[in-house]
Amino acid sequence: MGTMYPPVTRSEIEVAQARLRDRVQVTPLLYAPALSAAAGMDVYLKCENLQITGSFKVRGALNMILALCAEGQRPAGVVTASSGNHGQAVAYAARQAGLPCTVVVPETVVAVKERAIQALGARVVRCGTTSSARLELAQQLAEDQGLVYIPPYDHPLIVAGQGTIGLEVLAQCPQVQTVVVPVGGGGLISGIATAMKQSQAQVRVVGVEPELARDTFLSRQTGQRVDIGTSHTVADGLRSSQPGEYTFAFVERYVDELVLVPEADITGAAVRLLADHKLVAEPSGAVSAAAVQAKAEGRLVSTAPQLWTGPVVCIVSGGNVDWALLAQWLLAAEGLERF
Ligand SMILES: *Cc1c(COP(=O)(O)O)cnc(C)c1O
Repeated sequence: MGTMYPPVTRSEIEVAQARLRDRVQVTPLLYAPALSAAAGMDVYLKCENLQITGSFKVRGALNMILALCAEGQRPAGVVTASSGNHGQAVAYAARQAGLPCTVVVPETVVAVKERAIQALGARVVRCGTTSSARLELAQQLAEDQGLVYIPPYDHPLIVAGQGTIGLEVLAQCPQVQTVVVPVGGGGLISGIATAMKQSQAQVRVVGVEPELARDTFLSRQTGQRVDIGTSHTVADGLRSSQPGEYTFAFVERYVDELVLVPEADITGAAVRLLADHKLVAEPSGAVSAAAVQAKAEGRLVSTAPQLWTGPVVCIVSGGNVDWALLAQWLLAAEGLERF
């Protein structure tokens, strides 16, 4: 499906940036003293957990939906299949554009997520328990009702929207030498890597996955997209079973290294971000800080020699955490002297 689109370039990311101006937050870049001391180089956090809707996904969703409307063929509405950050982002973006929105969610959706999507004005349709069944229904609804399906990562307008983070980082920290990016289906890292490599080719781009969801890591090692099936990592935004077809080409071209972090490091990093920075990060958003900490301790698993230099920018991709889980991690954490 993806390979029919040409690769996104920096100029399309600039178009996206103009389209999104005053519609998304220019999120802060924070200096991280403790991580910097541990790593022996300057480390910064790009706080997409503070983005509208609580994750970066609104950038891609809004870019695609506004582009559809501008092309003069305003669709009857949009549809997607995600109860998570992408579902919320599409619902928000559709409302901004004045378009009706349908979000297909699992039968087993938790009530807070369903309500969050409904509160953004979208219609929620429950369907089955597998992502393939939901995708099929979403595409069927698109066909029957003249809606446009908004994919979570495998589309140039989504990649270009996520790439606007890369342009912001370059403006906020022009000396950046390494960016550390969470990897699910690969839309986020595809956009950021394109912005980086087509601006300052020496910037090292590192992708991070949970050990329990190492599909892109394995795909890099074998040179083709590997499907790992169902993953149970706590980082629910990174559970995609394989890299996107469109996005994997960017990973192969631009990503220097894929690294893995264990579950305990991920929840530990979420706790540290709260304690040290008063930042609420969800597990998927905390994997980048977890990778820097593991690297500092000399135990990071990587596809390549870790030739990192500073400044390092960690993308903290989202903050939509389950409060009950965060409370558990806090209560179980040791050595939180600041509390
Ligand atoms: C979706 C998501 C990711 C992964 O993004 P991809 O484009 O699928 O690689 C990372 N972090 C958060 C918080 C997300 O919602």
